[in-house]
Amino acid sequence: MLMQTYNRFNVTFIKGSGCRLYDGKGGEYIDFASGIGVNSVGYAHPAWVSAVSEQAAELAHVSNLYHAYPAEHLAARLTALSGMSNVFFSNSGAEANEGMIKLARKYSRDKYGGGRSTIVTLKQSFHGRTVTTLSATGQDVFHNHFHPFTEGFIHVPANDITALENIEDGVCAVMLEPVQGEGGVLPLDAGCLRAVSKLCAERDWLLLLDEVQTGIGRCGAWFAYQSYGIIPDAVSFAKGIAGGLPLGGFMAGPKCEDVLQPGDHATTYGGNPVCCAAALAVLDILKDALPGVNAKGERLKQALTDIFGNARGMGLMLGATVNEPPRALAERLLNSGLVCLTAGTDALRLLPPLIISDEDIDAGIEILKG
Ligand code: PLP
Repeated sequence: MLMQTYNRFNVTFIKGSGCRLYDGKGGEYIDFASGIGVNSVGYAHPAWVSAVSEQAAELAHVSNLYHAYPAEHLAARLTALSGMSNVFFSNSGAEANEGMIKLARKYSRDKYGGGRSTIVTLKQSFHGRTVTTLSATGQDVFHNHFHPFTEGFIHVPANDITALENIEDGVCAVMLEPVQGEGGVLPLDAGCLRAVSKLCAERDWLLLLDEVQTGIGRCGAWFAYQSYGIIPDAVSFAKGIAGGLPLGGFMAGPKCEDVLQPGDHATTYGGNPVCCAAALAVLDILKDALPGVNAKGERLKQALTDIFGNARGMGLMLGATVNEPPRALAERLLNSGLVCLTAGTDALRLLPPLIISDEDIDAGIEILKG
């Protein structure tokens, strides 16, 4: 049997199509969750299914000891649309951030020797569940059972540039989510993010963006930083990239593109041909869907404001503070045929597929109204 690590909702899904899920007992559900931001092109999109099937029939895996076209083509596409220099592929968001952390520490060690290994992250942040990314995560609730954690992380309040300026010694990087997802769907202040970017440049701290949840179109641009008008030194991504298959990664900009050399970092599966073929299909599908994401997000945000009296977020990454336990509300909505997420302690979180139609948004809104 499965280990009891998840407090699962009482439903078993057996099929998905478009932006709908089915439980095989006559239940049909509108999806405002995308498997936690993963199913960006919905379920069983024909172009995605063809790409995955064809690649699986051709070559599923060879490891990173050899070249394979899907990873190379995907790297070229991602660097072109992000402006970054190169890519390392991982299998998940946590691993992507782990790699980015290693990149920052080596950048600083190569240039300055020891003594600059601290990575500053934000309170309320979430960066993953490995021991090191839990250290990076700025929420005490995650720091309970698994000591000792990796050293060298400090957490400062979001949108507090003074707290960051007051740190004088030992820093190699600042890592943050442009919109804090698990922490409550909390967009960072644009002025503050630009000030952080400037400070990082002045002190030669790498600016690392965790775009595991915000990236690949979720916030209305390929990467959320493109809407904030900043350029990070490195950026991680995962979730929506391969439309349901496990793929993540991080990209380095010109300042740190040569830091990781052969032997410095590796993974067996990362950049697997099937996952990369899926991701190439996702990018093709999203090229058409991306221009509509902000308008769809505004439609849903307005509905959240009408229903709950508040709403926040960017693109189709939205949240609202609710005045009942969010889990209870999510259960009630599920029973009414709408799949939603929660975030932080008091928020409902919505991450619908990026290809969702206005009709499906409106059908979901009717269920949200209760
Ligand atoms: N970083 C952010 C911002 C996330 O939202 C998540 C997952 O929710 C992670 C990292 C970890 O990703 P994964 O669960 O794929 O390891």
